[in-house]
Amino acid sequence: MSAPADIPTSLIGLDRDGLKSALAVAGVSAKSLSMRTNQLWNWIYVHGARDFASMSNLAKDFRTLLENSFTLARPEIVTAQVSQDGTRKWLLKTGPGIEFETVYIPESDRGTLCVSSQVGCTLNCRFCHTGTQKLVRNLTPSEILGQLLIAKDALEDWPSTAPGRKVTNIVMMGMGEPLYNFDHVKAALAIVMDGDALALSKRRVTLSTAGVVPMIPRAGNEIGSSLAISLHAVKDDIRDEIVPINKKYPIAELIEACRTYPGASNARRITFEYVMLKGVNDSLADARALVKLVAGIFAKINLIPFNPWPGAPYECSDWSQIEKFAEIVNRAGYASPVRTPRGRDIMAACGQLKSESVKERASARMAREMDALQSSQLSRMPH
Ligand code: SAH
Repeated sequence: MSAPADIPTSLIGLDRDGLKSALAVAGVSAKSLSMRTNQLWNWIYVHGARDFASMSNLAKDFRTLLENSFTLARPEIVTAQVSQDGTRKWLLKTGPGIEFETVYIPESDRGTLCVSSQVGCTLNCRFCHTGTQKLVRNLTPSEILGQLLIAKDALEDWPSTAPGRKVTNIVMMGMGEPLYNFDHVKAALAIVMDGDALALSKRRVTLSTAGVVPMIPRAGNEIGSSLAISLHAVKDDIRDEIVPINKKYPIAELIEACRTYPGASNARRITFEYVMLKGVNDSLADARALVKLVAGIFAKINLIPFNPWPGAPYECSDWSQIEKFAEIVNRAGYASPVRTPRGRDIMAACGQLKSESVKERASARMAREMDALQSSQLSRMPH
């Protein structure tokens, strides 16, 4: 096996300065450093180049130098699935046990990519299947961006600045809590929102948090994307139970952070996500309390029908109840708030991510371990 120093470095996820330093170390002269950095930046993020050989305007020597020192490798695709409704889901892998999912949701007027920030999660929201998986680790900027590159490769969505592009919106709503992986998410989203890179405007990029209150102002100031809040309850006792981070940062503090979120305006509203759990948070009194709670904030409300998973301790609210709840929200001035579940047949809907693959893997691992155990017992048996 080669020593780590011999392994070519991936250039995906470096910021411009990082890319510049990498090129300097590889021997690019100081006087051509800026130009070379810009050329590569453009090939990697505007054209989605997957190898250096295709970078036709670069001198052959320079391409060879790049090939010997660096890679543009994406995560490995473990599975790629397509739902009956056109939603796509990729299970990606970058190392042993480092697996994460990305979901593409096509709609008539947009295509949204739902991106993961962590492998597993620490939050333990009781209705979320990802929350039942322990945190493995934070994803790196390269792994976060890799999700976008894989989706754009598969959808043939290059160059990223072309009109009619397929990935028009990014939501940090996959596995994990993005504000617990702030630096890496910030680095990745800076490249997503860079007009000379993936070129999605900040209003097309949404970061969703379960409510890591102290990080919310930093997200506004330093990342500058749109914000979504997984609110899900209007009373602390219920929210303590279903979104346990509420015990640390209760509703009043969360709402205050939203009220003062930098950059929120009539045109850039904060999205409040509200999962409809039968008999838990779906009373009409809850609906009235919800509109009261967000009054005075530039807000949108998304009602999410609960997506079931095996062993989930909740049921989705009855449709008639969701309609009545939605009507109260609508009458308070929040338009078309019920989000249609997408990709449920491939476990790609909100809160269903990773589940199946983990189960499969865990059982496969168990079978292997049992085999190993049995054969070691056999070999120790007296002949
Ligand atoms: N940790 C961040 C990012 C995850 S976003 C956050 O909590 O905001 C995923 C969204 O799906 C969250 O709003 C989450 O609360 C919601 N969700 C989780 N499980 C769900 C389920 N089973 N049905 C519907 N929505 C769910």
